[in-house]
Amino acid sequence: MHILVSNDDGILAPGLLALARAMTRFGKVSVIAPEENQSANGHRKTLTKPLRANAVKLDERLTAYSTDGAPADCVALALLGFVEPVDLVVSGINRGPNLGQDVTYSGTIAAAFEAAIFGKPAAAFSLNARAFDGVDYEPAALIAQKIVEKLLANPLPPLTILSVNIPALPTADIKGYQVARMGSRIYYDQLVTRIDPSGRPYHWIAGAEPGGKLDEIGTDIKAVADGYVAVTPIQLDMTSYALLSMLQDWDLK
Ligand code: MN
Repeated sequence: MHILVSNDDGILAPGLLALARAMTRFGKVSVIAPEENQSANGHRKTLTKPLRANAVKLDERLTAYSTDGAPADCVALALLGFVEPVDLVVSGINRGPNLGQDVTYSGTIAAAFEAAIFGKPAAAFSLNARAFDGVDYEPAALIAQKIVEKLLANPLPPLTILSVNIPALPTADIKGYQVARMGSRIYYDQLVTRIDPSGRPYHWIAGAEPGGKLDEIGTDIKAVADGYVAVTPIQLDMTSYALLSMLQDWDLK
């Protein structure tokens, strides 16, 4: 078994190392991850420049490379033959959750989707913690082992992946697992305009941490808020099936 581990937080992220170490239980592990933080870069593909890959020493048991590409580039590189054939792709453990609409921004999810496009089983793991330092990724790494065990025994249909969001709690305080649908995020972004030292304005899209609709039952947002691991099956087919017939009625000619 050869497992590829990637992320969007970058090669030096502690969550990446925790996940890669956890995956050594299932076989040989290779890590290919962006050299810099690529959070919220979505499913980006590098077409206009070459990619560079540099060997990195993370842990004795791991083959690891950083690249100047996006998370999905890292996975494509591996699955196109940069490393030996891959059986499973896991992404994360992301610093911060990927709940509701976050999924479309997330490079963590994009890495797993890229694997699904190549027909490989894939899962993305995200921890509901925002701090850069002092976060314990071990409880989430144990959960990743459990999920991967199930995923290997129960293959998903084509073009689907698992997105797993984990509360930032000690193992004993996590209440269990909930299979959950995507909830509704509420973003608090604001345009923050400041003046640079030469007098020109610059702009940040910034704001408080996103919230979500907690009154919706059965969602990833509610599950994590309640202390459960949210396991959400997601798919590349974003067609709104409910709207197909309505659009037929437009009678476009
Ligand atoms: Mn990230």
